Amino acid sequence: MTKTKEKESPIHIYGPVPSRRLGFSLGIDILPYKTCTLDCIYCQLGPTPKKTVQQKEHFSSDIVLAQINKTLSSGQRIDYITFSGSGEPTLNTTLGKLIREIKKITDIPVAVLTNSTLLTKARVREALQAADLVVPSLDAATQEEFIAVNRPHSSLKIEDIIVGLKIFRQEFKGQIWLEIMLVKGKNDSPNHLNKLKAAVREIQPDRIQLNTVIRPPAEQFARALSLKDLEKIKKAFGKKCEIIADFAQMNQFPQSQDIERKILSMIQRRPVTLSDISASLGKHRDEVLKYLNILISNGKIKPLTHKGKTYYEPSSAGNSHK
Ligand code: SF4
Repeated sequence: MTKTKEKESPIHIYGPVPSRRLGFSLGIDILPYKTCTLDCIYCQLGPTPKKTVQQKEHFSSDIVLAQINKTLSSGQRIDYITFSGSGEPTLNTTLGKLIREIKKITDIPVAVLTNSTLLTKARVREALQAADLVVPSLDAATQEEFIAVNRPHSSLKIEDIIVGLKIFRQEFKGQIWLEIMLVKGKNDSPNHLNKLKAAVREIQPDRIQLNTVIRPPAEQFARALSLKDLEKIKKAFGKKCEIIADFAQMNQFPQSQDIERKILSMIQRRPVTLSDISASLGKHRDEVLKYLNILISNGKIKPLTHKGKTYYEPSSAGNSHK
């Protein structure tokens, strides 16, 4: 087998992937894997190796913009351009510039998913001003619950973050959809929910979106609330509140025909490793591995060990994938 080594820039674009909230969302990832201020027990990317609050450029904004431009010119349907991905996007100092540059080249709305921790900084709030939609998260109203659920960097205080969210609301003209991730036995006590409700009332987001631990979490002890529990909480949070947790996905790998098709088309061209697929799709290895396991159990592909490395190739029974 010939080993080809291609030196490529990191892939900053993934999708567009269908999203319940955002339609076809083109994901923009501007961070090295798992660069975050938090280490949430429910994080689907796994544990944060080293929490940080230090903002950096991380990647060349020209390269990121070139990749966005190329994807936009492909004519695919894109409903939102969304900054999220491998960690907390506001840790990248070029975020504001990137949003402004995107707004110059397309009318597609820009969304930013953030964990809210750096909204205490005026320059971070300023960077987000050009976005159309910001989806900040707030899972705790007290430091105790903040530590239990989000395991923050030691410098972060939840009261400051709530103040940052309130100031951001006053400054930002776009939509704010506040996401609350509820974890069974960690931040769902009636007392804490009352405090959270009071904080949300002061922040005044356009929407309040309740979520729970549906996708595989960093920690096995992070457990989901039931739909019944969430419905009760939704009622208490009022008209603007909705449940975004997709219980149909519980204990299942999230459906995405597109990812499966992309993996299959790669494997059909040449045997590829897990790292090849992960780099090409801009997805974490663990997530890719789950797709590979499904394809193996469906008899579509098979693993092959060569010189100590595992490759994936079409299974002999199904060489003609659809
Ligand atoms: S803020 Fe997001 S990326 Fe960071 S640890 Fe929490 S869930 Fe993971």
